[in-house]
Amino acid sequence: MGVSKRILVTGGAGFLGSYLCGRLLAQGHDVICLDNFHTGSLDNIAAYMGSDRFRLVRADVCEPFHAPVDQIFNLACPASPVHYQADPIRTMRTNVIGAMNLLDLATRTGARILQASTSEVYGDPLVHPQPEDYRGHVSITGIRACYDEGKRSAETLFYDYNRCHGTDIRIARIFNTYGPGMRADDGRVVSNFIVQALKGHSLTIYGDGRQTRSFCYRDDLVDGLIRLMNSDQAEPQAINLGNPGEFTMLELAEMVIDLTSSKSRLLFMPLPQDDPAQRRPDISRAQALLDWQPCIALRAGLKETVAYFERALNVVAA
Ligand code: NAD
Ligand code: UDP
Repeated sequence: MGVSKRILVTGGAGFLGSYLCGRLLAQGHDVICLDNFHTGSLDNIAAYMGSDRFRLVRADVCEPFHAPVDQIFNLACPASPVHYQADPIRTMRTNVIGAMNLLDLATRTGARILQASTSEVYGDPLVHPQPEDYRGHVSITGIRACYDEGKRSAETLFYDYNRCHGTDIRIARIFNTYGPGMRADDGRVVSNFIVQALKGHSLTIYGDGRQTRSFCYRDDLVDGLIRLMNSDQAEPQAINLGNPGEFTMLELAEMVIDLTSSKSRLLFMPLPQDDPAQRRPDISRAQALLDWQPCIALRAGLKETVAYFERALNVVAA
């Protein structure tokens, strides 16, 4: 184990943030989890509350925060379209004002700061798979723009703080990530399908279900985030983190029905506005610079996630 660091995780009570806090504590670091509990929950971090190396700060990243820290992981932002679209102005504020507050903190303390950016910066991509130098095809005014443009603005701020103040930055562009710890009412496709299948409800397919996504298991993703944070970079470079395996939503639904032995049917519903038709990361940069690639296949990761939801919902698969 390396030297113990003081690490701030914003959004630390959320799906990915809480797992990240656990990994950092296990590595011997002191962790401050800052969260406003918009989509996060105390349950996610209950296991760490007894540790004297864990501190919870109930706060909003839109307010300035002061603490001597060595590293900052900025994960604060609802990630599910349902939740980030519920209050789009708040989503934009979290992304922009939140990023500025944390960049100010990093600049003052000399901490390295990592931004949890997203594949959404590529919008509904015209280049496939998506490499980091693709500039994207993003609606400025649609219902996803509060998140997509918010995250793009945050990346811009990160680069400008680096150029203007020498702030030590890292940017991870995260592709769809799933796993144990997601909320049953998160609204994203993997949790929706599993919860629906376990309850015997119809699986809601938006559009014709032929749109594709690439799903990365939580543990693989968080491993990539920690590697990126601790990597050397002469010049800032955004890095895609995701699993290049690409599936249609129909294939995903079939796999979930199979793994849960569910009798659920498919219910086709309208495709939401600006829903990307295809998405798959080009991860050659992560492979070359971080020696990272995901090792958990979709079926294996779904099995773990189904087992988690069976426990969480207190149901046994039929
Ligand atoms: P999540 O919604 O489970 O977690 C987000 C956390 O941020 C929650 O605990 C929430 O309460 C907190 N939060 C929201 N607004 C805040 C604010 N203003 N101040 C303080 N805390 C705030 O989502 P997640 O899947 O864990 O995603 C974590 C991060 O990773 C997000 O920034 C998201 O955009 C990014 N990301 C996730 C994915 C994915 O597939 N999971 C993909 C791309 C990017
Ligand atoms: N989707 C679906 N049924 C659902 C939820 C989502 O068919 O119950 C589709 C959605 O339209 C999108 C894909 O699944 O094409 C991934 O959606 P999600 O909200 O998980 O993430 P994002 O669209 O941000 O990639």
